[in-house]
Amino acid sequence: MSVAIVTGAGSGIGRAIAHRLAEDGYRVTVNDLRAEAAEAVAAEIGKTAVAAAGNVSLEADVGAIVGRCRDTFGACTHLVNCAGHVHQARFVDLEPAEWDRMFAVHVRGTFLMTRAVLPAMLAAKAGVIVNIASQLGQIGGVELVHYSAAKAAIIGMTKALAREVSVDGVRVNAVAPGPINTPLVMALSEEWRNAKAAGLPLGRFGEPHEVAAAVAFLCSPDAALFVGQTLGPNSGDVML
Ligand code: NAP
Repeated sequence: MSVAIVTGAGSGIGRAIAHRLAEDGYRVTVNDLRAEAAEAVAAEIGKTAVAAAGNVSLEADVGAIVGRCRDTFGACTHLVNCAGHVHQARFVDLEPAEWDRMFAVHVRGTFLMTRAVLPAMLAAKAGVIVNIASQLGQIGGVELVHYSAAKAAIIGMTKALAREVSVDGVRVNAVAPGPINTPLVMALSEEWRNAKAAGLPLGRFGEPHEVAAAVAFLCSPDAALFVGQTLGPNSGDVML
């Protein structure tokens, strides 16, 4: 049985991923910082989902999230690190606390969650990890140095870990979305969003389910040859 944990799944892209994996037959542990958000999404999915609230940047919370999955459905076979937040500031105005928070959620959170599920995957000689990065980790974003740096770190982690564990049956990849219509993108200034939309070859922002489709592919056996890759559902903003 395929058993997934999706972090930050109480909203936006993570919620769409949790729904898509459930539709594809996975048991899904729905994590979010806010218990009510995690519980609402788990209830939308039904019996094949369980809520596990917690902060992915805290070791004790991570232990509880992974334990909730194991106790309910068994060992995690597919981890999607999606929890995240955005904050916009000119670099000269950036406070160290905002820098640290950005790296805590995205980089430390991805590290802790991955470290918590990996031993069981290595023992089983099978497992999939998908890290949600951002195209801004590839090209950078104005007034988003801390966000862009954290997302670039996730891409680096993805490649390095993929080199380390692929031979043991664990596939690690990343998805780097472009602008997607979620509450997170609405937190950016209207000026930023208008400028971004005007430059997209596709002419529109993406929808969460369109990112979930890329994640579902990477989770599936069809992606057997994808190792350390970064897929880009980004409306053509970045072409590699
Ligand atoms: P979203 O709708 O705000 O969803 C993110 C969820 O993660 C929220 O429910 C948030 O809870 C939760 N979260 C934040 N910090 C957490 C923590 N420490 N532990 C557990 N959960 C936490 O945003 P989204 O747009 O779907 O973003 C999902 C991921 O995609 C993020 O990693 C984001 O950086 C990435 N991404 C988004 C876009 C985009 O355009 N939307 C583009 C590229 C990449 P709270 O609401 O309580 O903070």
